[in-house]
Amino acid sequence: AKGSLTQSICFYEEAMDEAVRNRRRLTQGLREALDQDQFELYYQVQGSLETGKVTGYEVLLRWRQADGSFIPPDQFIPLAEETGLILPIGEWVLRNACREAATWSEPHKIAVNLSPIQLAHVDLPRLVHQILIETGLKPSRLELEITETAMISDLDRTTHILRQLKLLGVSVAMDDFGTGYSSLSTLRAFPFDKIKLDRSFMSELDGSPQSKAIIRAVLALGESLEIPVLAEGVETMDQLSFLREQGCGEVQGYLLGRPKPEAEQVAAPEAILSA
Ligand code: C2E
Ligand code: CA
Ligand code: CA
Ligand code: CA
Repeated sequence: AKGSLTQSICFYEEAMDEAVRNRRRLTQGLREALDQDQFELYYQVQGSLETGKVTGYEVLLRWRQADGSFIPPDQFIPLAEETGLILPIGEWVLRNACREAATWSEPHKIAVNLSPIQLAHVDLPRLVHQILIETGLKPSRLELEITETAMISDLDRTTHILRQLKLLGVSVAMDDFGTGYSSLSTLRAFPFDKIKLDRSFMSELDGSPQSKAIIRAVLALGESLEIPVLAEGVETMDQLSFLREQGCGEVQGYLLGRPKPEAEQVAAPEAILSA
């Protein structure tokens, strides 16, 4: 029995070593990715159910590997956050997204995801201001998406920073609404310009009467707080019809278009929006 305990400890240590090595490799990879331009931006269209028009594009980070495949953001952003690399990576995303959007023929909005670390650790308002000036993008075309986890650590400080950002003329959206512990109190703490209803409610919509009830409730909440609601993860016409019936203003999801390397190559989603 003693032997097998020693053996398990050995396996455990080997597994730990392996995990540590993987983290190191991935961290080193992230540094090189920044130096060697291995990051790319993809754009996913957002549309209005009221006007049937494109309202903007969410900017999504992609890390391209030598073999052409991508490592998805869910697999490297947590590590980038732990190591602090999210600061230069996030700055790269902001600068390149603004630069690119400034060249578009139509002045659509871009929605850029911000990590809680970016909100907490850099002089973000000054950085955003500098990037807007440098790229010439109109502030009203930039929306910043933040999740409520960004609000948890130091609410006063975070709301102060968000207010400064809004003074620049950019808008702020609450991302993944309904998944955290404190979605409602977060709404009370800061006047968000948009609520993005998490895509988990959409994926469960068909099977679950609860999801329907929650979507209705969030739309009612948005209406009484006068905050527009965008539903994420819309994949089917049934989901779209339900959202339209319930008075949802904006949608995003594979039904309208998958994330693409060029925003304006997305096939006209107007037909779907007004179907
Ligand atoms: P998110 O902000 O919730 O972004 C939406 C995610 O949902 C994207 O995944 C998008 O591809 C996916 N999606 C869009 N429509 C549908 C749909 O109809 N069905 C399904 N099943 N999924 C859909 P992606 O690009 O893999 O990004 C995952 C997460 O990584 C994002 O979730 C965001 O939290 C984070 N992320 C992506 N880019 C950045 C970035 O530049 N900075 C930061 N800090 N985080 C980022
Ligand atoms: Ca987002
Ligand atoms: Ca989201
Ligand atoms: Ca998410």
